[in-house]
Amino acid sequence: MLNVENLQKSFGPVPVLRGVDLALAAGETLALTGESGSGKSTLLHLIAGLDRFEGGAIRLDGTDLARLSDPGRAELRRTRVGLVFQQFNLIPSLSVGDNLAFQARLADRHDPDWQARLTERLGLAGLEARWPEQLSGGQQQRVAVGRTLAARPPLVLADEPTGNLDEDTGDAVLDLMLELVAETGAALLMVTHSDRLAARLDRRIHLSHGKVAA
Ligand code: ADP
Ligand code: MG
Repeated sequence: MLNVENLQKSFGPVPVLRGVDLALAAGETLALTGESGSGKSTLLHLIAGLDRFEGGAIRLDGTDLARLSDPGRAELRRTRVGLVFQQFNLIPSLSVGDNLAFQARLADRHDPDWQARLTERLGLAGLEARWPEQLSGGQQQRVAVGRTLAARPPLVLADEPTGNLDEDTGDAVLDLMLELVAETGAALLMVTHSDRLAARLDRRIHLSHGKVAA
């Protein structure tokens, strides 16, 4: 469902991605590792349609991102791709319940039954009226996971989703995310620094000096 071919991206004169290839099948989970500054976040941003690239191709279900207009890329982000960040990125002015519903509403896929089930599974039942700042880090990241999966995107991109959590909390969030991703049939591309966490996904690629090294 995702094909990245010979992807090239520079910031000014500095090449960051120098011919990256990767493919992801529907429902497959792939870990992306690599030292700091190797271009992992940049790669996720490009796949999410958040930035343009100079060379190569990114195809999502056959759609070539380079050929999409800005509104076309926004549409793709709204309906096809879910993002989970290290910093949670909840909307502080919305309640937990409205954060959970936010992406699904944007995607015109709001389903109160599915959201209620997700809320229960994520251990967030009873917290819907709270503000994000009133939750622990682990709870906030579970809201972010729920917000993404409520919209049932076919592709979930997660950038060090447990990087801001202690090990036990991070493991619990990852367990839930993997379970729920499998349940929705989404494919997952997850950046992590942890060999232990990477080993829990179907496959792993290692980025070094702007290329897939292993
Ligand atoms: P990683 O996520 O693997 O740590 P990044 O993709 O964030 O790496 O960054 C890769 C390189 O690109 C780094 O050298 C970083 O400084 C640079 N970079 C990332 N984003 C920008 C940007 N918007 N403008 C200029 N340089 C950037
Ligand atoms: Mg990064």
